[in-house]
Amino acid sequence: MPTLPQLSSITFPAAAGAAVPCPICATETVLHDVVDFNKNCEEARQHFLPLSGRPVYYHRCPECAFVLAPEFRHWSDQDFQDHIYNEQYIEIDPDYVSKRPMHNAAFLRQLFDRARTEIRHLDYGGGSGVLSNALKEQGWHSTTYDPFPRNAQRLADLGKFNLISVFEVFEHVPDVTELMSNLSALMEDECLVIFSTLLTDGNIKPNTRLTWWYASPRNGHISLFSRQSLVQLAKQHELQYGSFNGGTHCLFNRLPDWASKLLTPQKN
Ligand SMILES: [Zn+2]
Repeated sequence: MPTLPQLSSITFPAAAGAAVPCPICATETVLHDVVDFNKNCEEARQHFLPLSGRPVYYHRCPECAFVLAPEFRHWSDQDFQDHIYNEQYIEIDPDYVSKRPMHNAAFLRQLFDRARTEIRHLDYGGGSGVLSNALKEQGWHSTTYDPFPRNAQRLADLGKFNLISVFEVFEHVPDVTELMSNLSALMEDECLVIFSTLLTDGNIKPNTRLTWWYASPRNGHISLFSRQSLVQLAKQHELQYGSFNGGTHCLFNRLPDWASKLLTPQKN
């Protein structure tokens, strides 16, 4: 019978052993599960990458149900560029180049096109600017900004906005606090932030394996929000939180007039 190694001789990845406080409510998170680094969102469409052999641990906050992969907090922009947002990224997120930004531009126009002359719009996390350019072509005042790679000066020079869209960003950020402080700094006194992210509610439960397609490190999905965690985050920044559906949400300080119809109960 083979001799098993002593536990003390086994080294565990640091992420699996260290205490990790929840970045939203400060409660100590619990280890939830481990997945292979190559787990990706296209698996939902039967596109599997070969296993990388690299374990990625996800932690869950027992209080606010926020879920995170803590090891990415220590990655540099270069690490993200080399291992996630590299030339293979398009394989596991084929819609990001143009299909999704065009769809999101149409969504914003559908909501607010009539008020476009009153809107100063920022597309935060806008990549190459497809969404913003599509709106500009329709007469919108729109600016694009990508927080990656970090550029504090450019952020400071942007000014302030009364409509900020943040599509496909929240789940990608290694530092939620930084995201919220950036957004707060960009908001006028009356500003609506519309953002997308799928919620962990009903998708990540205690004592179940992390099989949810959205929890995919290869796509850079490393911060996964529950409704409660978003409510709490809004409160900490003196913002209101609302949700259009399970994937599209908003934050605001005071609602501009042109946006108030959104949150007014509609008569049938
Ligand atoms: Zn928490």
